[in-house]
Amino acid sequence: MYTMDAPRTWATAVGVKGGRIIYVGSDSVPDGMIDSETEVVDLAGKMVLPGFQDGHVHLLAGGVELGECTLFTIMSAAAVADSIRACARARPSSPWVRGVGWELTVFPGANPSKALLDRIIPDRPAIFDAADGHSAWANSKALDLAGITRDTPDPPDGRIERDPRTREPSGTLRESAISLVSDLLPEPTDAELAAGLERGRRLANKAGITSALEAWAPESFLRAYVAADLGKTLTVRIIAAVDAEPDSTGIDSLVRRLNDWRTIYTAPRVRPVAVKLYQDGVIESGTAALLAPYLDRKGDAGKPIYPQPMLDSLAAALDREGWQIHVHAIGDRAIRMTLDAFEHAANVNRPRDSRHTITHLQLIDPADIPRFRSLGVIANFEPFWANGDEYVTKLAEPSLGRSRSRWMYPIGSAVKAGVVVSGGSDWSVSSLSPLDGIQVAITRRLPSDRAATTPWLPEEVVDLSTAIAMYTINAAYENFQERETGSIEAGKLADLVILEKNLFEIAPHDIHRVRVMRTILEGKTVFEREGAGR
Ligand SMILES: [Zn+2]
Repeated sequence: MYTMDAPRTWATAVGVKGGRIIYVGSDSVPDGMIDSETEVVDLAGKMVLPGFQDGHVHLLAGGVELGECTLFTIMSAAAVADSIRACARARPSSPWVRGVGWELTVFPGANPSKALLDRIIPDRPAIFDAADGHSAWANSKALDLAGITRDTPDPPDGRIERDPRTREPSGTLRESAISLVSDLLPEPTDAELAAGLERGRRLANKAGITSALEAWAPESFLRAYVAADLGKTLTVRIIAAVDAEPDSTGIDSLVRRLNDWRTIYTAPRVRPVAVKLYQDGVIESGTAALLAPYLDRKGDAGKPIYPQPMLDSLAAALDREGWQIHVHAIGDRAIRMTLDAFEHAANVNRPRDSRHTITHLQLIDPADIPRFRSLGVIANFEPFWANGDEYVTKLAEPSLGRSRSRWMYPIGSAVKAGVVVSGGSDWSVSSLSPLDGIQVAITRRLPSDRAATTPWLPEEVVDLSTAIAMYTINAAYENFQERETGSIEAGKLADLVILEKNLFEIAPHDIHRVRVMRTILEGKTVFEREGAGR
């Protein structure tokens, strides 16, 4: 049992009562603590860790998507087409065909065409989000319904991809241009949200997860989470980062609305204490904001979502009201602007334990790495992405060039600088399994990569103990619950995961194959592998 307490103690016995840990030690639980009602579990050969915590996951939206057409990890255009055809046929009466998960690397320029989609679905509007959620692929019917023509200008912070000669929309939409079509889709019903949440939380428990930062929650999601908790079916602690996009009514009314949500939608396992902001897009489609131009985009460096003064005012207003600010920033410019905004907020407000977080962190200027520590900002990485796959080698590295590419996902450098690093999956963008993320954090290679290849950017590898901390005690710290969860210590809540094998005794490339045997939330089993026995 690896307790993840501060000295990283190993133990062999844990006692649990009333949802809390009452004993941790190297001998068996003392006799006086065991009575006739006590369940005794023999852990021979297995490993116990604190329940995994995911520091950035779209748990509810990911669950909803599983009820739609999913295209994740389908790696050829022909196979994508077959999958869409089958999915559309299975839904003859639905007015829209919608889905998610096409991989950017499948289509040249990450740019699938409406012509291909029209051949499969000529009669109904159809829209498919990309795996990363920052692009979408629409057919002609959908573009027509949205009134998108060659004369439609690109919206702010978005791009309508076009045929270079005719200017005709080609079918792919980036960032805010997606909503020109997606705004026409019917909102998911409360029943659909509840079903999505049920799918999401089951998968999370199966992966050993007992706590998650819900990375984007509009009011309907908050309502679904609270309803599930009141119905006693919410088996994951949820820290919600609520949707905080300011509208035309201004920052003051935004903050009032958010404060109301925080009051209304707090429940025992639901804490809406964070707000979500986006400061840029992604490198692969040229929408991340960089300090110097992309090498392959004619001097374009990508645009940040908020100008600095606006981001500063937003951060200061939210910080003043006690919100934790959780910002999507991928490019080195977006990251620097976000750090600047956090610094501004700390200067104008009283100093406090704010734990503002930047997530994704694909390209950090090395000069900015120490600022995370000095400003007390959490670095939330998705270690799974640091694997040297085709997203990196075919799309990101060529547009960044060699010297900048060195600073992609610099997890090791952040750890060396004393930054609190937490782990997230960004599921459904990528694998929900913390064991996949832990393996990639220490190998910097795809989980399926069996060969003993050198890591991609070996300087940025972290050790196994650090990788586990990212998904336990450090994510607990990110979410203001390190006093109650994140390690196995007497007095804390009994959130535990039992793994088939000791991660320290197997080859790093085998970690992703270790099975979760049992997941325990507050002393109650919320997942148990079939045939695991007791
Ligand atoms: Zn996300």
